[in-house]
Amino acid sequence: MSYCLYCHELYSEAWSWEALIGLKQSPLLCQDCERKLVRIKGEICRICGRDFSVFPEQYRQNNCCFDCIRWEYDEEWTGVLKQNRSLYVYNDYMKEMIAKLKYRGDAEIVKAFYPVLSSEFKKISRDAILVPIPLSEERHYERGFNQAELLAVGMKKPVEHLLKRKTHEEKQSKKTREERLSQKENPFEVIDSVKVKDQKVILVDDVYTTGSTLRYAAKVLIEAGAIEISSITLAR
Ligand SMILES: [Zn+2]
Ligand SMILES: [Zn+2]
Repeated sequence: MSYCLYCHELYSEAWSWEALIGLKQSPLLCQDCERKLVRIKGEICRICGRDFSVFPEQYRQNNCCFDCIRWEYDEEWTGVLKQNRSLYVYNDYMKEMIAKLKYRGDAEIVKAFYPVLSSEFKKISRDAILVPIPLSEERHYERGFNQAELLAVGMKKPVEHLLKRKTHEEKQSKKTREERLSQKENPFEVIDSVKVKDQKVILVDDVYTTGSTLRYAAKVLIEAGAIEISSITLAR
């Protein structure tokens, strides 16, 4: 018997040979909770990893969704984010789970995802470093932890804190002329560019929504000399 990391109900694990001989790790969520999560499997967008089975056919071209096609057509963003892979569909249940993780400090929940995160890491690259998407200093202080960092740590690979969010003052003073003119600006900067050079990086975040956060982070890393940027997110 174990306690479910999410609903905290006591549950008994389903009996299986794989579990008995140690081939399968015991699940950390009860079957009711596990069932409500939808793993992204099968056909996906080759760049953002969105699940095509829950996505209208008319918004894709071959194996790429229109959102990604739009990003890739813009020469400023071509190839900046090689690929994102998300583990679960961002359904209502996943939203609740992430909210619980982020705002109620229920950081234990992430442990339920460690096995799947690790196997996703191996599929993308075996020699990349993990870089969690940082929170702003204020946000980090309020929350006490960064959920992206918790997710990254579970993959048991080198985690490097190479990014920071610019403060408001930095945003004003460090704007390039171009940025001032275009009104859009990269919210991130690289802390240690020596560690970035010639590295393959996997960014880690909780959710992929529009993809712009990950692309902005990827862009500063590429500019600092990283060779390839991918990302892993819990939900898409
Ligand atoms: Zn449960
Ligand atoms: Zn896509």
